[in-house]
This record gives sequence, structure tokens and C-alpha cells, in this order.
Amino acid sequence: MIPDSILNQIQERTDIVELIAQYVPLRRAGRSFKANCPFHNEKTPSFVVNPDKQIFHCFGCNVGGNVFGFVMKIEKKDFREVVEQLADRCGMELPKDKPVDSEASRRTELFAKANRMASDFFRKTLLESREAENARAYLKSRGIDDATAEEFKIGFAPDAWDALLKVLKPEVQDALLERTGLFLTRKEGNGHYDRFRNRVMFPILDSKGVCVAFGGRVMDDSTPKYMNSPETEAYVKGRHLYGMFQGRKAIREADQAIVVEGYMDLIACHQAGVQNVTASCGTALTTEQARLIRRSTNNVVMLYDADKAGEAATLRGLEIFLEEGMDVKIVRLPEGHDPDSYVRACGAGRFRSELSGSKTLFEYKLSLLKSRYGTTTLEGKVKVANEMVALFQKVKNEILRSAWLRELSKELSLPEEALAAEMRKGPREAGPRAPEAQGEPATPIEVPLIEKQILGVLLELPALAATAREELRDEDFKHPLMRKIVMQLFEIGEPVTAARLITLYQEEPDAARVISLACAEADILADKKKAFADCVAVMKRSRFKNRLTSLRIEMQEAERAGDMSRRDQLMRDFNELNRGMRQIDEKK
Ligand SMILES: [Zn+2]
Repeated sequence: MIPDSILNQIQERTDIVELIAQYVPLRRAGRSFKANCPFHNEKTPSFVVNPDKQIFHCFGCNVGGNVFGFVMKIEKKDFREVVEQLADRCGMELPKDKPVDSEASRRTELFAKANRMASDFFRKTLLESREAENARAYLKSRGIDDATAEEFKIGFAPDAWDALLKVLKPEVQDALLERTGLFLTRKEGNGHYDRFRNRVMFPILDSKGVCVAFGGRVMDDSTPKYMNSPETEAYVKGRHLYGMFQGRKAIREADQAIVVEGYMDLIACHQAGVQNVTASCGTALTTEQARLIRRSTNNVVMLYDADKAGEAATLRGLEIFLEEGMDVKIVRLPEGHDPDSYVRACGAGRFRSELSGSKTLFEYKLSLLKSRYGTTTLEGKVKVANEMVALFQKVKNEILRSAWLRELSKELSLPEEALAAEMRKGPREAGPRAPEAQGEPATPIEVPLIEKQILGVLLELPALAATAREELRDEDFKHPLMRKIVMQLFEIGEPVTAARLITLYQEEPDAARVISLACAEADILADKKKAFADCVAVMKRSRFKNRLTSLRIEMQEAERAGDMSRRDQLMRDFNELNRGMRQIDEKK
């Protein structure tokens, strides 16, 4: 958790106009600035930046927020990353997270240091040691140049039992050696030995560029071809992607991530100039990895080997991306090629054109199934249909699903209604559906205009809060989030800027939009005080009216029950409310 005071300081020191102007050309329009919206396609500008309130809002696609929200959206980063970036931009140091368990945090630091030292040692060995001659020749034969080897800090683990052990033993207690993942405990006697021997070493970095694990490859045909670090306190399999740290910028710029399988595939792509790549490295793709990519782009092209294992891995991966609501395509390279060999043989240009011929998941799976079962017999068609329908059931998007259904019915010449019926009864994944992923466009919920105006004016003229607090009740607000925000403003009791308020509601996906919209509505009011009073009156009047209706019903009931004293009491309430209502009307 980043303290509020720090977030405040960052917001105070970051001018939203200056910041947004780095991404979009802004034009002055009165007190505000306008631009063509960077988040949707448009010809006339509906994207407005308000320097007084330090917020932005787009009337076209209905997004809005403060400096944090803008950078999160445009750079597809998470809140924490953006806070770090903006703190850096205004020369501020963020306080380190307080370690929950200082023992654990000391260990984390120790493991990070051990990995760093190991990485340096492997790198130095590759560059300088005579033992590494084979490794150098191997990398050369794979076409990897020095600059690329340096960028990915490729190294070499010598063919010895204690080469790394000698380096790390003075730093790491014996009891912790095995837990770094770099050593194994001897079965007989005591002591440890190096896990990685005679292998080319690929450091695996986390999102901050810290080495958390290694992949090691043999240079001949011995097995296992690849060996990875085991899970440690610093490294959980399936949470990292190889090359993501180096490729993230290019992925964001291209708004597309190419997902390959192996270390060498990724490195060959980079070297050929295709840098928006990341690699899953042997392990099956996980949901966490898909989400890691989604922080940078929604568009994925999968490029796995054309063999059977690759096919299965591709399909699994595809379905994970699909379940995460991402747009995923597949490329099948010509027979006998993997991305590494292909990009080296054909160069980046041909490689990219191969990408543009990528298939959708629908096309890919259909062609696989057709070649597996054939579609000349009804039996074959039914098998194809069943597996396709099982795939459709994983698609979140209704429109896409029905489009696919139509397409499949055409492809197989089977009636669409029959396929649709099959899909409805099909074995939908057991258990409740996962909640909608974040980042998908929020369905705009209508906020009543008077509620927007109330909040907008309150933020601008906080002195009005005192009267409003007396006059309004939470039931006066129909929009639940609006109710929550205004009631909290009353509670805080001191002026809060719109930009701050958005940060306070960081966790509410809809808050930034609702708040920036409220400000925009208030902006166009000529007499804000008068408009505010009118809104309060309308809200009160409607509450009175509802109460009068229910009093009338209660009176009838009391009368029917013969409870005259209760009826008289209700009558007095009714009259008083009625007077209150007339007063409201007279003030207008
Ligand atoms: Zn827009």
C-alpha cells in the first residue's frame, strides 16, 4: 500500500496537461484543452483535459480519470507501476514496502543476491573462461551475436560440481543453499553441489528486471535438453514469462505480443528485429501469464512449433487467452520450421508477413479437426461439431459466439439451430463463471443528471457541503456508486479535489469515469450555486412525494383498522410534509 500522502504529493507535482501532451497533441479551448481521443477513433475532438481539476474525460467513449488513470490506460500498466513511474518523473522516492515478516524479507533479498551473483558468474564464465569455448561456438552456430547475448545476459555453467558453490558458499548459509534453487544436497555425506553443469544459461527475469530463476540448455543431444530452476521462494512457475522484461516496451508499442515457446526462439526473434515477443518456456501457458501479457496488450499471436506437442500446447494456450477475453491468433510456420530457424532463414520481413497471415482460433481449430476426423461422413462432421461447440462454450463474448456458430453451420452444412441447441445443453464448465475480467469496457450505467451535477458542484464549491449534508439523505441518490461517493464526501467534511477523489476510489472500476463525468457536467453550468440548490430541491421534493404516497396508504390502513389516533398522527405528518413541499415549490 502506498500512503495517501505520497499519492497526493505525486498528483500535486504532476501537471495533467503537461503529462497528457507527451502522448497526444492538445489544443487550448477556453480554460480546458481538447484533443482527438487516444482511446477511441474519432475525427472531431471529444477528449477534454481540465487543468483546474487535473482530470480528463472523453465524451465519445466515456472514459475519464486523473493522471494515474491516464497513464494506466495509455501505457496499459497497473496502478503500482504507474505510481512508480510518476514518482520517478517528479523525482520522488517511494517508501519501501514494510516487510511483513522481516525474516522472510531478508531471505528474499538473499535469494535475489544469490541469483544475481550466479548470473554474473555464468556470464563472466561464458565471456572469459577457456572451458566455455564450446558454449561460445554453440551460440555462434545458432547465430547469436555478442550484443544479444549481453542483452539477455546469456551465460555458461561450467562442467564441475562446485564451480558456483565456491562463489556462493561465503554468502549463503549451508541450510539455505538448496532453497536458492541453484544447488542440490548430496545424497551421501553432507554438502551440496551445483544444479546446473555444462549448460548454456538463460536468466529468467521478473517484471522489475530482477533475476529469479534460470533455464539451462545442453549443447549436444543429451537429455534433458532444458533444465529450469525449481520453484523457490523467489520463483513460482507459471508466474513469469521469459523475455517479457526486455520485450515489454516493444509489445506496448506494437500493441501485440508474439508468444513463442523457447528461449532460442525468443532470442532469435529479438536479434532479427522482432522484439514484441515473449516465451512461455516449456511449461504450459498459465492464466497468470496471460494476465501478465494483458497488462501490455490485448492482442496475442501464438507461434508454436508445428509438431504434435506444439499443437496441443497451442490449443491450450489459445483457450487460456480466450478465457481471459483477449484477442488471439495463431500462426503455423511451414513444416519443419520453428520460430528460431524460420526467422534466421527468412529474416524479419518474411517473418512479419507470415504473422499477417495468422489464423483465428476458429479457423485453426476447425482445420485441425477437419484433418483429424474428415468431413465427408456425417459421423466425422458430428465429431468436428462437438469439439468446436465445446470450444465455443469457453468464449465470453456472445456476439463472437453466435458469429462462430453461424460460420460453423456453413462450414459443415449442419443446421445452425441444432448446433445452438447442442451448445446450450453442453457441459458448461462446472462451478460459477469467473467474474468478468478487468479492463473490459464497463457497461455504462446511467447516472441521473442531477446526481452528476450535485457531485460536480460539490467538488468545485465544497462550502456547499454543509447545507447539502443537512438536506440530503443517502436514499436520495439512485446510483449506488454516486450515493457512496457523496456520502463519503459528507463524512470527510473537508474539501477534496476531483483528482484526489478518483485516487481514493482507485479500486472501483467505474469511479474515475463517474467522477470525471460529474465534473464535466458541472463545468457547463452557468450559475453553479443556483443549479445546486435546484438539484437539492428536486431530490428533496421527490423524497417528500414518495413519503406522501406511503403516508396516504398508511392512513387508509389505519382507518380500515379503526385506529383513529394513529390516523390523526399520520395526518399531521402528512400535512407537515405537504407544507414542506409547498415551501420548496415557492422557492423556485
Ligand atoms: Zn474516447
